[in-house]
Amino acid sequence: MELQERLNEVRFHIAAAERQAGRPDGAVQLVAVSKTFDADAIRPAISAGQRVFGENRVQESQGKWPELKAETSGIELHLIGPLQSNKAVDAVALFDVIETIDREKIARAIADEMKRQGKTLRLYVQVNTGLEPQKAGIAPDDTAAFVDLCRKELGLSIEGLMCIPPADENPGPHFALLAKLAEKAGVEKLSMGMSSDYEIAVAFGATSVRVGSAIFGAR
Ligand SMILES: *Cc1c(COP(=O)(O)O)cnc(C)c1O
Repeated sequence: MELQERLNEVRFHIAAAERQAGRPDGAVQLVAVSKTFDADAIRPAISAGQRVFGENRVQESQGKWPELKAETSGIELHLIGPLQSNKAVDAVALFDVIETIDREKIARAIADEMKRQGKTLRLYVQVNTGLEPQKAGIAPDDTAAFVDLCRKELGLSIEGLMCIPPADENPGPHFALLAKLAEKAGVEKLSMGMSSDYEIAVAFGATSVRVGSAIFGAR
C-alpha cells in the first residue's frame, strides 16, 4: 500500500471512531509520527495534506524539518520524546508544541528559552500512567500540583496531558486515568493513542492521536 492510502485509512478510522463515540467530526487531531523517516519519505504525507507531525528526537529533527518547514507553510511540529535541558535552545527554535514536559528543571529551561527567543510554544505535561521506572513522565498523583507550578510559578500555559501506556497492558484504563487527571488539573487537551490503539483513545476522549507506523510503515 502507498503512504497516501495508509494515511487515508487512518483518517477514515479516526472519523469512524469519532462518530461511534458521539464526538464531533474533526474533534481529534492526527499527529503523524515521522521519527526515523527522512525528508523524502515524509514529503508524500505533506503532499496528501498532512500538516501536523511528531518527532521524538531534537537532533534528528534538525536534519530534516528546517528544510520541510521552509518548503510548505502551516507545518506544526510536535516534540513527543524525552527532552534534556541542554537541548531546550534547539527544541524551542524548531518545535511548535512540546508534549513531554515532565519535571521542574525542564519546565524552567523551556520557560527561560521561550522568553529569550520571544516564542510561545504550546505545552503538554507527560504523565507516567503506568508508573514504569524506565519511562518518562510525572506520577499521576503529582500531576495537578505540577501543572499548577508550571502555570503559577513559571507562567507556562499548559494545554494538555500526554501519556504512553505500558506496552503489555490494556490501554483503556490508562486513557481513562489521563482524562480524569486532565479534568482535575483543568487542562483541555489529551494526547493519547498510537498505531495499535488510537481508536480506543478516541473513545476515551483523545483530542490528538500520535500515529507513526500505521502511516509510514514499520521502523
Ligand atoms: C513512536 C511514537 C509514537 C508512534 O508509535 P506508532 O506505534 O508507530 O504509531 C507515538 N508516541 C510516541 C511518544 C512515540 O515515541
